[in-house]
Amino acid sequence: MRYYSLNRQTEPVDFRAATVAGQAPDGGLYFPETIPRFPAGFVEQLPELSPAEVAYTVLQPYVGNTIPEVELRRICAEAVDFPFPLVPVTDRISALELFHGPTLAFKDVGARFMSRCLGYFSRHETRPVTVLVATSGDTGGAVASGFLGVPGVEVVILYPSGKVSPVQEQQLTALGQNITALEVDGNFDDCQRLVKQAFRDTDLMSRRRLTSANSINVARWLPQQVYYCYALAQWPSQAAPPVVSVPSGNFGNLCAGLLAYVSGLPVAHFVAACNVNDAVPAYLRSGNYSAQVAVATLSNAMDVGDPSNFGRILELFGHEHPVIQQLLTGYSVSDADTAATIGRVYEQTGYLPDPHGAVAYFALEDYLAQHPRASGIFLETAHPVKFPEAVEPATGQPVPVPTSLDELLRKPKHSIKLPPEYEALRAILLENVVA
Ligand SMILES: *Cc1c(COP(=O)(O)O)cnc(C)c1O
Repeated sequence: MRYYSLNRQTEPVDFRAATVAGQAPDGGLYFPETIPRFPAGFVEQLPELSPAEVAYTVLQPYVGNTIPEVELRRICAEAVDFPFPLVPVTDRISALELFHGPTLAFKDVGARFMSRCLGYFSRHETRPVTVLVATSGDTGGAVASGFLGVPGVEVVILYPSGKVSPVQEQQLTALGQNITALEVDGNFDDCQRLVKQAFRDTDLMSRRRLTSANSINVARWLPQQVYYCYALAQWPSQAAPPVVSVPSGNFGNLCAGLLAYVSGLPVAHFVAACNVNDAVPAYLRSGNYSAQVAVATLSNAMDVGDPSNFGRILELFGHEHPVIQQLLTGYSVSDADTAATIGRVYEQTGYLPDPHGAVAYFALEDYLAQHPRASGIFLETAHPVKFPEAVEPATGQPVPVPTSLDELLRKPKHSIKLPPEYEALRAILLENVVA
């Protein structure tokens, strides 16, 4: 498999080069030259296959011969070594819980897969590779946990000061070792802009081996397909295919689901569930896309004004707005509706969604109300304990803290404050170069 840049100003590369570079040299996102079809009988066999086997089957064509079979099987098994239960919430709505990994968020899957691929590709390198990543909340924790202690890899994380939850901030700043957290005086779009600028800085790039771990990296993006397969594996075989509602910010997760669909996974319809940052829902309605400035919301991991992976969605469907519109419905959900949904779902069903899951639930419920014969799945992308400031006022009760967090919460925080200016980031990156 080869990957071309969506900007089309550089040559296509293999999985290894795309993973190590993160972004193409022309600033574009990498995209696979062909979308493989799942093998015959794969969908029917899903209930009998192990999660690791599903992951290997889905990902092998994308990895090609850049990783030998035994290594890739090991990487797949380690990336998905926790449960992905499909939990019924009402008679028409189920939650696909993606938060049973080490940082209680779906991003663990992509981060664990990518860190192991990068570790494999770097096994003979003498210069360390630096993973540079901007996070609006959950990416950083998942990446930090995925790479913690991996030899030859340093991680530098930029996060918006005061805009991530206390548990998230601990997951970014308290690990130590090869993880450095930069606390940016700005919003997520500032963090992302600084990171993009670093990747365009050829002088810096010649002095440091930089790579990205955001969802733009193919090794983070592609493995997210596998849990859509796990959802179908648990879906009643006699039922019509589900509507799948995905809480979306940078749109890597949804775009991976669309990829699985194009490869042959039966899904009736997708819902792009956003908070008030609605660049994509606006495009779906009108056919016109315009980037926005991110606004802070209760579902802060989705506070993205100009989602990177939107370009991949366009590419996947040949930029045909009518085709995309037929498969995908956009919703923009207010904070008031998000909070009310958390409280109402908890009261009526006993299920406690996190704010991102609540956005997806609200959108799915509305879509299903207009399609009375359909039923669906919403992705529960994080554990509610990561967002107590949104969840507790909505239910009037504290969220029980999983014991797996006790130790992390007691550790001291270490971060370096950074103004939202590129020169400041550049100076830190050069200062840290290992002599
Ligand atoms: C990152 C994140 C999202 C958004 O995922 P994208 O792939 O960026 O669209 C949704 N929910 C949670 C909890 C997240 O951390």
